[in-house]
Amino acid sequence: MGEFELIRKYFAAAPCAQGGEGIALGIGDDCALLAVPPGEQLAISTDTLVAGVHFADPCDPFLLGQRSLAVAVSDLAAMGAHPLAFTLALTTPTVDADWLQRYAQGLNTMALSCGVGLVGGDTTRGPLSLTLTVFGRVPAGLALTRSGARPGDLLCVGGELGNAAGALPLVLGQRSAEASIAEPLLAHYWSPQPQLALGQALRGKATSALDISDGLLADCGHIAKASSVSLLIERQKLPLSAPLLAFLGDEGARDAALSGGDDYVLAFTLPPAELAPLLADGWPIHVIGCVAPGQGVVLLDAAGQDVTPVIHGYQHFRETL
Ligand code: ADP
Ligand code: MG
Repeated sequence: MGEFELIRKYFAAAPCAQGGEGIALGIGDDCALLAVPPGEQLAISTDTLVAGVHFADPCDPFLLGQRSLAVAVSDLAAMGAHPLAFTLALTTPTVDADWLQRYAQGLNTMALSCGVGLVGGDTTRGPLSLTLTVFGRVPAGLALTRSGARPGDLLCVGGELGNAAGALPLVLGQRSAEASIAEPLLAHYWSPQPQLALGQALRGKATSALDISDGLLADCGHIAKASSVSLLIERQKLPLSAPLLAFLGDEGARDAALSGGDDYVLAFTLPPAELAPLLADGWPIHVIGCVAPGQGVVLLDAAGQDVTPVIHGYQHFRETL
């Protein structure tokens, strides 16, 4: 099978590649064309997943298809953008029909659930890696950036933390757990649900936002830096799931929530007056701290003592910097 046959069979023919709202031209030409309404801006983000770095190889290609798109679309959620489309640059060592079929099915499932259409990409031979670029639209001036947090704002998250980090030893085969624990944790890892609706509901309300991909402490550090403020996190207030607590215990679950990556839950800052109406509308918002003058992230224990750990999240190339 040649490159063009592969593209046609597995990607151009997928239901998610048949166009949709905002897609003026999809796969098949030199460029796709997207339509952005007047007064809106295009939000763009790229993520690369490399075999052996971002996912174990081999792994289930259907799950990889879901996850590779979810982590990219999560960045649109973090900006409060409405999803439009995505491209896929696939580098693969071999043409494995079964693998491609199941990868494309996982991708398609997540694309339909997020409302993004596949509009193009690139297909090359080499070590397995996936680069997905997502496109969304957001009313001009209303995108949720990292730089607007102000002292006095509440620090909030959009759901339970640490589940994906809890799943990692299960994914890597280092530990096992009974199904009632393993299944919900693995579902968070393999099929994170980008918080698109929450991101859009926070437009004009949250003063800053991001999606937690590298761990709460590390990602809050990005908001603190971009906004020139300090973020205070109360360790006792972290929302934790019952399966995570059962698997790791209270201390372990809190550590997973603070330092583990891959949650893809939104973290954001909110003026106090905005909280009650959002909660009344049923949004899953948990207040975990506040914004203060200063810089950096401070972790406080139940007694209000500073227990900030030194190591924050995962960084590529850390050893060379
Ligand atoms: P070009 O040589 O003009 O860059 P290609 O021959 O690489 O174009 O691709 C042909 C068409 O197929 C383009 O529309 C491209 O966006 C699309 N395409 C290539 N690879 C993929 C893929 N993995 N998934 C979806 N679309 C793809
Ligand atoms: Mg071309």
